[in-house]
Amino acid sequence: MMESNASGLMNETRLRQEWQAVVNARRIVIKIGSNLLTGGGEGLRPEWIAARAAEIVGLMATGRRVVVVTSGAVAAGRPRLKLNRPLASVQEKQAAAAAGQGVLMRHYEEAFAALGVYVAQALLTRDDVENRQRYLNARDTLKTLLELGLVPVVNENDTVMTDELKFGDNDTLSANVADLVDADLLILLSDIDGLYDSNPRLNPDARFVPLVEQVTPEVEAMAGGVGSQVGKGGMATKIKAARMAARSGCRMVLTNGFRDHPISEVFGHEPVGTLFLGQEHHLPARKRWIVNARVGRGELFLDAGASAALLAGKSLLAKGILAVTGEFARGAVVHCQDPKGQELAKGIVNYNSSDLACIAGRHSRQFEGVLGYLGAEEVIHRDNLVLTREFCFMPLK
Ligand code: GLU
Repeated sequence: MMESNASGLMNETRLRQEWQAVVNARRIVIKIGSNLLTGGGEGLRPEWIAARAAEIVGLMATGRRVVVVTSGAVAAGRPRLKLNRPLASVQEKQAAAAAGQGVLMRHYEEAFAALGVYVAQALLTRDDVENRQRYLNARDTLKTLLELGLVPVVNENDTVMTDELKFGDNDTLSANVADLVDADLLILLSDIDGLYDSNPRLNPDARFVPLVEQVTPEVEAMAGGVGSQVGKGGMATKIKAARMAARSGCRMVLTNGFRDHPISEVFGHEPVGTLFLGQEHHLPARKRWIVNARVGRGELFLDAGASAALLAGKSLLAKGILAVTGEFARGAVVHCQDPKGQELAKGIVNYNSSDLACIAGRHSRQFEGVLGYLGAEEVIHRDNLVLTREFCFMPLK
């Protein structure tokens, strides 16, 4: 983390060096929040959207590819419900999103079409990135759109979502999209200048933080709780997005979208907002998917030998499994615990829970006799396994 104090000259140089990679980014996800789209009033501001479209088309003219993650469906739909009061229930919010999503897309469509560029709507849910097949489909479609020169405009599919299946906020959604398309830069356009070491709206002495090298617990503490600084998810969801982006090797810039040219400015060589660095040695996409996959209650308890083998980069074999808990299907993501009860790894299992309970502790020669079929030798193949120490001091839910 870097603070803007007088002793920060070296850090200033570092920031400028790191900024060069921001300027050179080729595949960019830009998240646009509701406050910017509405300007704080009722309904959307088409002229503001048109100005951002012009900035984005400018980036595309230099060979860059851009995905927009946009909020604003609820904001655009709310006036159409003619309730003359705040939305009172989840159903009303979902109805507003349904009424507003088309309006939102119309503005993007018109703004980009006027500049000779087509947009493509993609509405995603958490399910779409947690289900491996749908994740791969979403990834392929978005990448194809980018290759063909369209601008995917993504939002959460609010109308059909229940709480358990929601991203819940578009900061998180945008980090997932950055991961999906292998973006090298995620820009969060917000209504705050960047990260402060405490809430600037409550503390006049809050100091600006221009560079975050790693999202440590100290950085998370700066963000405080949900809604403590700005936006729907507050600063906390922005930090969570930075952590996820970093894991995909993607940089993130958090900047104020109320500035005159908030997008082009990011590529203007002078650092702006807060830059969060990406991890240099990031996991490949398949392993990132495993890290981000939500895990049911499936847990495998390993003996010391299997734990050591996993730590040495080997696959998990049945003979090192002491016990299996939870019910899960073949292909599910499960947790592995070491003999001390500490989480050791997460991975995709080759057996469902009942078959696994039958072969736990056994050698693969015995599988066919016990199960009546010859399955994979490994319970979790090393390519489908991520060690907790590789991705965490803070595992994602
Ligand atoms: N998906 C919501 C909308 O379009 C916004 C969620 C958010 O702003 O984080 O209205």
